[in-house]
Amino acid sequence: MALNSYTPICGEDYPLTDKQRHLLRLACELGRDRFAERAPQLDRDAQFPFANYADLREKGLLALCVPEAHGGLGADYATYAMVSAEIGRWCGATALTFNMHVCTMMWSGLLSEDLDMTPEQRALHKVHQQAHFARVVKDGAIYAQPFSEGGAAAAGAQPFGTLAVKADGGWLINGKKIFASLSDAADFFGVLCTEKKPGADLSRRDTLYLAVPRNAPGVTVEGDWDPLGMRATVSRNLIFKDVFVPDDAALMPQGIYFQAASRWPHMFMTLAPTYMGIAQAAYDFAVAYLRGEIAGTGPVKRRQFATKQIAVAEMFIKLEQTRNLFLRAVEDAKIDPPKSSRLRAYAAQYSIMENAQDIARLAIRTCGGQSMLKSLPLERLYRDARCGSLMLPWTAELCMDRIGREALYEPGEKDD
Ligand SMILES: Cc1cc2nc3c(=O)[nH]c(=O)nc-3n(C[C@H](O)[C@H](O)[C@H](O)COP(=O)(O)OP(=O)(O)OC[C@H]3O[C@@H](n4cnc5c(N)ncnc54)[C@H](O)[C@@H]3O)c2cc1C
Repeated sequence: MALNSYTPICGEDYPLTDKQRHLLRLACELGRDRFAERAPQLDRDAQFPFANYADLREKGLLALCVPEAHGGLGADYATYAMVSAEIGRWCGATALTFNMHVCTMMWSGLLSEDLDMTPEQRALHKVHQQAHFARVVKDGAIYAQPFSEGGAAAAGAQPFGTLAVKADGGWLINGKKIFASLSDAADFFGVLCTEKKPGADLSRRDTLYLAVPRNAPGVTVEGDWDPLGMRATVSRNLIFKDVFVPDDAALMPQGIYFQAASRWPHMFMTLAPTYMGIAQAAYDFAVAYLRGEIAGTGPVKRRQFATKQIAVAEMFIKLEQTRNLFLRAVEDAKIDPPKSSRLRAYAAQYSIMENAQDIARLAIRTCGGQSMLKSLPLERLYRDARCGSLMLPWTAELCMDRIGREALYEPGEKDD
């Protein structure tokens, strides 16, 4: 496939609704015609893609997962995942940060509709949702998802160390987050923290999900950002020192995030679409390169050699295995999925994150030395692909860990 042709990430023959087809084309046009050109400089300088976000805002895509009743595009989980993958083909850092923003809306929106709440919680949540959605739809606000702290909390093994104490009319927050993508760009940080109740131990059940305005007194962005890949995510540290947020900062009611994390496992698979897009991009690049279609390379074609054909076949098989698992897993997403869907989600996440790297590796090996020059996108795809399997809570290792344990033990089962 030539790099400038359009085949949706799901393949041209995948059954799409008209809305999905429209959104995927829009994402591809933005990515191919605007984001791809900006990506090399942003990567080199580790600068956030502000211009890409202006384009996403103009096209209404910042409200992709805001319900239609609130003026958004009302995309469901699978539509979000395919749009995100489409963006990832052209700029990984834009797709990864877009994930943080859009999924904040999805978690607070369609996902939370599935969760059990008291009538009072539900009514209050609707008021809070209204405020968050309006900021995105009317003001074009951007939300980030800073969860990681460098301890075991982001993996789900411990309560978050960032603490919130109830104050008059709101919460007082103290703590530190690391790797906060969009740290230079977000208007609101969707922070996971633990409610510190007087006289009680910290508990994961008391996780709060609060939107902290970036300009709230006591919020500081600190530290360098000079990583191997995904450089334009600008994921610096956040410090919260006696930061007050009002009660309506809640993105979910008290106690509901714990329920979401236990009952809606696909909420943690939302980083994977970015890397599905990167895998596709690395494959597309290799095919175009070997066909002699990449400007500024060649002029010798290499496709006639059997070794090249075998390498492309190997990449294609990996890509199709990955894509099909991806498409199946995103269709599975729902509350209380059966065990087979939950294990498939881990397997999909693992395969996408590991295969994206492997396809990029094979692309460089097969295309050769010229293909890894920084003037071409493959070198960036290779570095960006490396980041996927490190992302909590579903790192490649933790996916293996969960599959092994959950395949061998039913809930509550123990060995003597
Ligand atoms: C480009 C990029 C952008 C990011 N953006 C964000 C963001 O916006 N928001 C955010 O919250 N985080 C973000 N992260 C952080 C990411 O999700 C991880 O928190 C971070 O990579 C963890 O680094 P660490 O060295 O602290 O990992 P550690 O927690 O030290 O883990 C190291 C490895 O040990 C394994 N491990 C960890 N815990 C366990 C366990 N309990 N049992 C078994 N094995 C375990 C895992 O495989 C993990 O890869 C980003 C990361 C990258 C690379």
